[in-house]
Amino acid sequence: MRASLRKAHVSGAERLIDGACLKEVLEEMLRRALASYALPDEIRISADTVLPDSIACIRSLDVKTRIFSTIDAAHRAAKEILGANGISPVAIENARRLLQSGPTPEGTNMRGAMIIDALTGERIEPDIRRGVRVSRIDYTQEARMLLKNRLTEFGIYHERVIDALAIASKVIHRNETVAELCCSDNPDYTTGYVASKKSGYVRLAPVKEEGSLRGGRAFFVDARNLHLGSYIDYLEKQPVIIDRIGDICEPLT
Ligand code: AMP
Repeated sequence: MRASLRKAHVSGAERLIDGACLKEVLEEMLRRALASYALPDEIRISADTVLPDSIACIRSLDVKTRIFSTIDAAHRAAKEILGANGISPVAIENARRLLQSGPTPEGTNMRGAMIIDALTGERIEPDIRRGVRVSRIDYTQEARMLLKNRLTEFGIYHERVIDALAIASKVIHRNETVAELCCSDNPDYTTGYVASKKSGYVRLAPVKEEGSLRGGRAFFVDARNLHLGSYIDYLEKQPVIIDRIGDICEPLT
C-alpha cells in the first residue's frame, strides 16, 4: 500500500500473506492508509502472486532500544554505531544531510530508500525521487504473534516496530548491505533506528522533533562487490518470510 498527498509520500505498508487472508489484509491496508497523519489524495493498493518455492525464510535482527535525553545525543549514537560498522564519515554525513533536508531534489520525502556507497557517500539508486522500496516481506503468524508479545513485555510494542524490523531484517540479510539508517516521516513518531548484522536493530529515541514530517531511509552498501540490478531486485521482489524472532533486549536509558 502506498498513500500520498499532492504527490508526497504519507504512508506505506507491505505484507506477504496466504491468499486466504487477502480480504482481511486489504481492508487493514485501507484502514492504515486512511489513518495516515494526513488524509491522502491518492491510495494505491496492489496485490500479486508469488511462488511458494521462491520464498526465503530468515530470522529477525535482535532488537535493542536506547533512549536519550536529547536529539543530538541520539544522533551521536547513530553516528558511532554506523562508524563502528565501517561506514565512512563522509557517507554518514551525506545520509544525515539528505534525511534532514529531504532526500529528493525538491526536498520532499520519498516512498523508498536511498542506496548510499558506504565508502564514498555517493547515492547510487537509479531514481532519486522514488528511491527503492522494499517489498514482499512478512512474518509467519506465529513469529508475528511472538514478536508482538515480546515487544509488549518490554513496553516497546508499536505497529511501526513490527513493520520496520521486517524491512531492516530483509535488507541486512543481504551481504552487500553494510548498515541501514531510518528516521520515520510520521510527525508523531520520533524514534529512528540503525541496523546492521553486527549491531542488530538499534532503536534510537528521539531522532527528530515531534511534529517534524522529515524522514527517510538510507541503505549503506559495499559498492565494490555490488551488482546494483540484482541487489534492487532482491529488495523489491524476493519474497522473504521471518519465521524466527531474534532477541529483544531491555530498553537502555
Ligand atoms: P516510515 O518508517 O514508514 O515512516 O518510513 C520512513 C521513510 O522510509 C519513508 O519516508 C520512505 O522514504 C522510506 N520507506 C518506507 N517504507 C519503505 C520500504 N518498504 N522500503 C524502502 N523505504 C521505505
